[in-house]
Amino acid sequence: KVSIFWFRRDLRLDDNHGLFEALKDNENVLPLFIFDKNILDKLENKADARVEFIHDQVSKIHQELSKKGSSILVKYGEPEAIFTELSNDFEIQSVHTNRDYEPYANDRDEKVAKLLNKKDIQLHLYKDQMIFEPGEILNGSGEFYKVFTPFSKVWLSKFDPEKIKDFKPMHWKNLFQSHSLEIIQLEEMGFKKSEISIPSKTANEEVISNYHETRDFPAKNGTSRLGIHLRFGTISIRKLAVKASELNATFLNELIWREFYMMILAYNPQVVDKAFKPAYDQIPWRNDEEEFAAWCEGMTGYPIVDAGMRELNETGYMHNRVRMVVASFLTKHLLIDWRWGETYFAEKLLDYELSSNNGGWQWAAGTGTDAQPYFRVFNPTSQQEKFDKNWKYIKKWILEINSDKYPKPIVDHKFARQRAINTYKSALNQ
Ligand code: FAD
Repeated sequence: KVSIFWFRRDLRLDDNHGLFEALKDNENVLPLFIFDKNILDKLENKADARVEFIHDQVSKIHQELSKKGSSILVKYGEPEAIFTELSNDFEIQSVHTNRDYEPYANDRDEKVAKLLNKKDIQLHLYKDQMIFEPGEILNGSGEFYKVFTPFSKVWLSKFDPEKIKDFKPMHWKNLFQSHSLEIIQLEEMGFKKSEISIPSKTANEEVISNYHETRDFPAKNGTSRLGIHLRFGTISIRKLAVKASELNATFLNELIWREFYMMILAYNPQVVDKAFKPAYDQIPWRNDEEEFAAWCEGMTGYPIVDAGMRELNETGYMHNRVRMVVASFLTKHLLIDWRWGETYFAEKLLDYELSSNNGGWQWAAGTGTDAQPYFRVFNPTSQQEKFDKNWKYIKKWILEINSDKYPKPIVDHKFARQRAINTYKSALNQ
């Protein structure tokens, strides 16, 4: 008889809520990871650094578990089919996993729960990825917040760092004892290693302490770069939030934005492909493919936009200030559908998170909750003057900036600004 602990976006042994509970109450806990074909098949780039990252983390977990006489069972396929197979191979007592709030994950978990229920096996879900999950922070009428500030006030009033639990697993003896199992290789799933390096998961205390002063300047090493680790759970949000509350309120506020967008997506799964404010689906996007290609390649002739896109293409990262500028430029200056930009980011960002990416894009396009109003159009030149005064960031990413090879602006700022305002205005007046 075994119980299963199913790892997903919580790739760590330490302070892992679901793993803690599984080990506390059960014997023969078999750790499992599934490379989900439904997700992997959609990735066009077979040298995807995120898949490689997951593979590395699963291998590390495997090594740590083998020191305890156990190992992780790694499968490749569709989760429902895998659970059917496992229930034939083992007598399963229960399955434990941490909750995931994305629409695909919800749907998958419902199907798996149903399948298991038919065999009298229960799927136990735990909160691990968030401090307050959807439903825990509601307004006086019991509804979700559509605006960030009141949401964050309630969040902060409920957050007590002293009461945050550390789910340090103690009952390792309850692991299923097995010989070291072989882990499937990337190549066997059609993937290979990428050339992109992953930022460290050690939160730099100095960076976090100075965050409020440095976070807006893309040339500085002024943000944590922890995005990918939060995405895949290689660090614990509980530990990070406690640290943030000791070191820097502005940084903690960003972690609250993360939960705000996760909550918005959970209550409004339609935002994946629709504007949060339905009227904004009327905007007649120009969707010029050549202009889109110039934006993707960092060839718009606006240095701050191009530097950002080149940073993204080369490293899988882009600074938040620049994400806002390039997203605004695509949607307002070029009037290209925010979903095109969102999809491009989803392909490229190491820290890609559906909820934050969607929230960020809808904010920039003016279509979302708490959005930047449509008549406010970022001026890329003044953004650059403010946040990269000495051209340090720009020169780092655009080597030919001072030569003839660098293109002329793709569109005049004043003209584009007015065109955006007119287009939005007439679409919204319909
Ligand atoms: P830090 O500045 O050090 O912040 C720490 C953590 O707080 C981040 O890792 C992230 O988890 C969270 N956070 C910070 N800012 C935000 C924010 N505005 N919204 C939600 N969470 C935030 N963030 C993602 O994690 N994934 C995305 O796919 C993503 N896409 C974005 C797209 C656009 C158009 C915009 C404007 C923003 C997007 N963001 C996204 C938010 C933000 O840009 C990144 O979280 C941040 O730049 C990541 O760098 P960092 O880890 O150094 O963050």
